[in-house]
Amino acid sequence: ILGTSNSSSGALISVARAFFSSSTTPIKATLFPGDGIGPEIAESVKQVFTAADVSIDWDEHYVATEIDPRTNSFLTWESLQSVLKNRVGLKGPMATPIGKGHRSLNLTLRKELNLYANVRPCYSLPGYKTRYDDVDLVTIRENTEGEYSGLEHQVVKGVVESLKIITRTASMRVAEYAFLYAKTHGRKKVSAIHKANIMQKTDGLFLQCCKEVSEKYPEIYYEEVVIDNCCMMLVKNPALFDVLVMPNLYGDIISDLCAGLVGGLGLTPSCNIGEDGIALAEAVHGSAPDIAGKNLANPTALLLSGVMMLRHLKLNKQAEQIHSAIINTIAEGKYRTADLGGTSTTTEFTKAICDHL
Ligand code: NAD
Repeated sequence: ILGTSNSSSGALISVARAFFSSSTTPIKATLFPGDGIGPEIAESVKQVFTAADVSIDWDEHYVATEIDPRTNSFLTWESLQSVLKNRVGLKGPMATPIGKGHRSLNLTLRKELNLYANVRPCYSLPGYKTRYDDVDLVTIRENTEGEYSGLEHQVVKGVVESLKIITRTASMRVAEYAFLYAKTHGRKKVSAIHKANIMQKTDGLFLQCCKEVSEKYPEIYYEEVVIDNCCMMLVKNPALFDVLVMPNLYGDIISDLCAGLVGGLGLTPSCNIGEDGIALAEAVHGSAPDIAGKNLANPTALLLSGVMMLRHLKLNKQAEQIHSAIINTIAEGKYRTADLGGTSTTTEFTKAICDHL
């Protein structure tokens, strides 16, 4: 419904933005506070960015209460246009009804904006002890198709059908992205995660594309790991992995598993990457309705997503400054939210991060 944009390269835009940000011109970025804990943690990000003197002019868009006929969704036309125009943004979690109701707004955003790769770094935080202290991996999830194509219907009463779509185009571009990411980030290995022993055609095509791309990167070790074995290996020894690339559904599941290795969903960020240089960062977690509105949410995952957004904009100094303040606050241990075993509210934890800047 939105068509494709023919903007110039994302890299050039980033460099231009980095230049302007060194003057006082604020960078425009779209902000979706989202549902549940979204507005609380989005407020944290705004406060920390302001305290760090990061000059972002947030163009805020909430999920609509009624369907916008121009998008046929609760996402307004203006909000989608805002991302297309700004080409960078931060998104809070958006709730999706279970088993009925409207299509996921997250899927709609990814599809409409052609956000084809979801990058989910997961690493042990220094000073926050879990069973492992050496987790450092990146899940790259195909973001536009697979089981999440939205093609489900009832065949006859009591029988439903759900279509898993895998295309060469989408598999090649996410594989290309994964290998390029590995190369530019000094990573040594890419593991393609699959179930091609059972899903022979779909995952088979995905694997074939990964293998083809791997041949262009002889310096990066390439392996193929069946998803069930991958889960066991991750839990037993996460240091076995570096960059993992996989179809949509597997990426959704594996990245929550990875979050569990380093302390939970309150900590893991992500960034959705589009073909036209669009970057929409968002936490891995959902709207956490069980703690929404209680000032209990951990804003770290969204803050670290904001850090990914700043790095995309080449605002590396500011990104590092905020990153260190988050890490140091958690490591110090005086202020932590309940998910990390602390007693601080979202507000207190946010203030502590600002004080560490
Ligand atoms: P969830 O991620 O919202 O919550 C799972 C558990 O983790 C809950 O106990 C929650 O309290 C906790 N948690 C999550 N984020 C936290 C944080 N920042 N601080 C402290 N604790 C946190 O998963 P769910 O309950 O399965 O889903 C709730 C809603 O979110 C659903 O409607 C789902 O569709 C949606 N969702 C959206 C996204 C997204 O917007 N990208 C992702 C996942 C789920």
